[in-house]
Amino acid sequence: MGLKVWLNGELVDQKDARISVFDHGLLYGDGVFEGIRVYNGRVFELDAHIKRLYQSAKVIRLGISIPPQQLSKAVEQTCNANSVKDGYVRLVITRGIGTLGLNPFICKNPQIFIIADNIQLYPEEFYEKGMKVISANTVRNHPLSLPPQIKSLNYLNNILAKIEALDSNVPEAIMYNHQGYVAEATGDNVFIVRKNAIYTPPVESGSLEGITREVVIELAKKENLQVVETDLVQFNLYTADELFLTGTAAEVIGIVEIDGRVIDDGKPGQITKLLRKRFFEYAHGKTQ
Ligand code: PMP
Repeated sequence: MGLKVWLNGELVDQKDARISVFDHGLLYGDGVFEGIRVYNGRVFELDAHIKRLYQSAKVIRLGISIPPQQLSKAVEQTCNANSVKDGYVRLVITRGIGTLGLNPFICKNPQIFIIADNIQLYPEEFYEKGMKVISANTVRNHPLSLPPQIKSLNYLNNILAKIEALDSNVPEAIMYNHQGYVAEATGDNVFIVRKNAIYTPPVESGSLEGITREVVIELAKKENLQVVETDLVQFNLYTADELFLTGTAAEVIGIVEIDGRVIDDGKPGQITKLLRKRFFEYAHGKTQ
């Protein structure tokens, strides 16, 4: 059996879903993608993901041959074909087949594929007890070098930081920008709580404009929490009342230790837990 993969307009068996070794997506990491959740049979924040995908593609001069509405339908079609009601979608556009040179304009047929599958979450224990992280030495890509707002297939910067985390026996690392300000985690955005306000770095400091980040900001405002987008330094993380990450895969997850510094009492904080709950309700369509 296996999955049905949407590839360039058709649903094919996963064994037939193939990309060429000459595809620049593989040769150079030249392409863009989205990771999207499905909750209760609804694709979560699909419009926002599609918008970000087309924006990323535009910035790297990658033309998408089909209009956004059609691509949105294809995502839903792929979920239906695989009976994915609660799961994860990977939507990828590669530059397509080219020569062994860099020139992207030789690649005439960008490849579009969509995989809908179940998601491997962090163990439940991480959500209950909180997660430990480290600060990465790997500096987040300079925004003028490779804007972190582009969700590209080139994740080596993040992967180097992830390796540092895994070498330290923790699952995640916080990355800082070239000025030493907090940027993001390797696949998540960073928030701290101080008194009744939550703080997160502006995306200009070197993070992806996370869709979960945006949802959590709106949910926090509804709870009358002050939300401040401002540069944060390592000291702010070490001394925060609460620290949490947001992302499509991780959702909202409390961080209880960073670089050996225990955050507050070493348990996920009240506001983190509240926002996680509100996020869950919102994602499952229990609130508007
Ligand atoms: N930063 C990076 C580098 C990411 O890859 C992701 C997505 N996995 C995020 C932040 C979180 O973004 P989103 O909430 O849209 O998943």
